[in-house]
Amino acid sequence: MSLAISRSPMPMNEPVRSYAPQSKERASLQARLKQMSGEVIDIPLFIGGKEVRTGKLGQSVMPHRHSHTIAQFHQAGTAEVNQAIDSAVTAQRDWARLPWEARASVFLKAADLLAGPWRDTLNAATMMGQSKTCHQAEIDSACELIDFLRFNVSFYEQLLREQPRSSAGMWNRSEHRPLEGFVFAVSPFNFTAIAGNLPSCVALCGNTVVWKPASTAVYSAHFIMQIFREAGLPDGVINLVTGSGGAVGDPVLESPHLAGIHFTGSTRVFHQMWRMVGDNIDKYTSYPRLVGETGGKDFIVAHRSADPAALVTAIVRGAFEYQGQKCSAASRAYIPSNLWPQVRDRLVAEVEGIRMGDVADFSNFMGAVIDGNSFRTQADAIEQARTASDASILVGGGCDDTEGYFVRPTIIQTSNPSYRTMCDELFGPVLTVHVYDENQWLETLDVVDRTSSYALTGAIFAQDRYAIEQGLDALRNAAGNFYINDKPTGAVVGQQPFGGGRASGTNDKAGSILNLLRWISPRTIKETFAPPRDYRYPFMG
Ligand code: NAD
Repeated sequence: MSLAISRSPMPMNEPVRSYAPQSKERASLQARLKQMSGEVIDIPLFIGGKEVRTGKLGQSVMPHRHSHTIAQFHQAGTAEVNQAIDSAVTAQRDWARLPWEARASVFLKAADLLAGPWRDTLNAATMMGQSKTCHQAEIDSACELIDFLRFNVSFYEQLLREQPRSSAGMWNRSEHRPLEGFVFAVSPFNFTAIAGNLPSCVALCGNTVVWKPASTAVYSAHFIMQIFREAGLPDGVINLVTGSGGAVGDPVLESPHLAGIHFTGSTRVFHQMWRMVGDNIDKYTSYPRLVGETGGKDFIVAHRSADPAALVTAIVRGAFEYQGQKCSAASRAYIPSNLWPQVRDRLVAEVEGIRMGDVADFSNFMGAVIDGNSFRTQADAIEQARTASDASILVGGGCDDTEGYFVRPTIIQTSNPSYRTMCDELFGPVLTVHVYDENQWLETLDVVDRTSSYALTGAIFAQDRYAIEQGLDALRNAAGNFYINDKPTGAVVGQQPFGGGRASGTNDKAGSILNLLRWISPRTIKETFAPPRDYRYPFMG
């Protein structure tokens, strides 16, 4: 019972710690890294509040030192998946009936635990398991996840306050019910914040969840689950089920109780899941909500009036931070002929100077790509470009997986704007550049719009205000997150709601009220205070 119309705390974006030399936070994180690197932990499934061990084990390793195992994790089969579905369905009754403030408090507490005592652990886990530098971990596993947890509560409160008007003699209300059934949250390897947000924002709205993290990010997912538990998340509300995509996904998509999918990952997997939902449509109690944020082929396009220094910085950070493994990472760039000579020279110098290696060495700007598959994808694309008639390697190109999955930041230059790596997502530190005739600005905008099936992020660089407006107009549907004179990465919760269209997803804008709309099913209630007692209308007199 709630006897108040409560106001939730006003959220503020979590300040980013610098980890500068001699800072207390640096010493503390380094100590935690050292301690965790010396352990190999055993990671169970987490179903109905209980740890479940199947004995079918997978290994978590450091991508930058793949001989170093940091965990073994238990993988689910059909029996455990069905157990997780049952426990989610059973838990929903009590969880949905809690006053919204009680559910919100769990996630606000989780945010404070993460901002304080758990910060080093989740940052260290993200560095070790996903090969992020301390800065990339801090903006992801600390700040972005804390922001998601706090801002979603405020968005949810806003949503609950959304009520219809009432004419005289009646009271109309909207009750923002959770979906009937459970939601399947499926998270990618590349953002710990996304892994934490996909199940938690759904649960905040009164839903219960079966959550499957990527096998290469089970290590950080395990600690997220521990934070939720310490914050008081009741049994069965979020059930963590690790295992291969099909082994977990197939039985889940067969369940009549499937009420929604909250997915972030590749376009290919989302297509596959959408198709299976279509095939199973007669089995479900309700139409499942399908929310998927998927791949990208994100662009930077510069006008002849662009500031070359700002452009080069945006390219280097936008394309190579976290080894180009951000869905928003710049992977194709269009540079006008008048700027190319100086942009090329600066780019080559900057990229050659990038330090790459073990992320525990804080002087490195880049770590390794996530696994052997990704390493081979990058290496193959680089090899093809070396021998192609319409492409060449401008800088980088070195690949070495002896110790870790290391791919040097690489720029391919192509004369062909439809060259394969201008169109296909590689999801690694490989940027392809096309130099265009500086007088062909409008034609180039058209090429940018048509080249790839994706429409996630994009940036234009120009000082000329007319050029900026032309870019905004011509590229209206080419990116869901559009940047002017800034890199196309680094969206902040509450500031740049995130998501794209076309093959990049359903554009349900994580980090905004729009996303939460997908996890409720409103009931409209009309109460009439003095109902009529005679069926005859006055016109009949
Ligand atoms: P992925 O598609 O390989 O895996 C995503 C998740 O789906 C994993 O948990 C995986 O185990 C699971 N999965 C695979 N097959 C499945 C099946 N049959 N049933 C159920 N689940 C299944 O993606 P990834 O390599 O982890 O992440 C990289 C991709 O994610 C890139 O394409 C990137 O662009 C995209 N991404 C997009 C956004 C966005 O906001 N648009 C954000 C992050 C990542």
